Amino acid sequence: MKRRIVFATGNENKMKEIHMILSDLGMDIVSMKQAGVDIDIVEDGMSFEENAEIKARAVSRILTNDIVLADDSGLEIDYLDKAPGIYSARFAGEDTSYDIKNRILLDRLEGVPDEKRTARFVCAVAAVFPDGTTSVVRETIEGRIAHEISGENGFGYDPIFYVPEYGCTTAEMDPEQKNLLSHRGKALRAMRILLEEKLRGEEL
Ligand code: IMP
Repeated sequence: MKRRIVFATGNENKMKEIHMILSDLGMDIVSMKQAGVDIDIVEDGMSFEENAEIKARAVSRILTNDIVLADDSGLEIDYLDKAPGIYSARFAGEDTSYDIKNRILLDRLEGVPDEKRTARFVCAVAAVFPDGTTSVVRETIEGRIAHEISGENGFGYDPIFYVPEYGCTTAEMDPEQKNLLSHRGKALRAMRILLEEKLRGEEL
């Protein structure tokens, strides 16, 4: 049977990006839902890497013949001691809109000068292989927190994440441009290199 890659996410947008970046590996890539796995995973790790590995391991315990990937990501703001960090999705309440979450963060940084508004999006991608081994990569995109909300693209904290080199927020970039620069795009490309090496090793 052809080996599959299963990605431990239910997020359709992530799956699109994953397909774009990993499709030339020549393996079927499916979400855990498409693979018939419907479980709640408690993300109780202390870092992005730990949480990505927890998710991948939980699915790998069920789909023991597949390569299982999972990611974990978030926003670190230096002035707030790297908050919201691994709690980015839960910040100010899971059901609170991002318009409100973004306004809360802008308020907390009220009057803080540009040089102290440094921030980054972080993404860790973990892979668990059928032999039980694990690999984890971590990538970032550096920027700073804007003074106001701007841009309609993207999701989450994109409207307040300003990238000085491009003079705009990630919500003002088109999706292809964001994928080239983003923490998730970089981490998925790093994982692709790792998978290519692993698969080449298996062919020997
Ligand atoms: P998760 O990795 O799906 O758990 O997402 C973590 C949270 O981090 C998201 O819900 C967003 O709040 C935030 N986040 C991660 N990546 C991005 C991004 O590219 N843009 C905006 N927000 C992001």
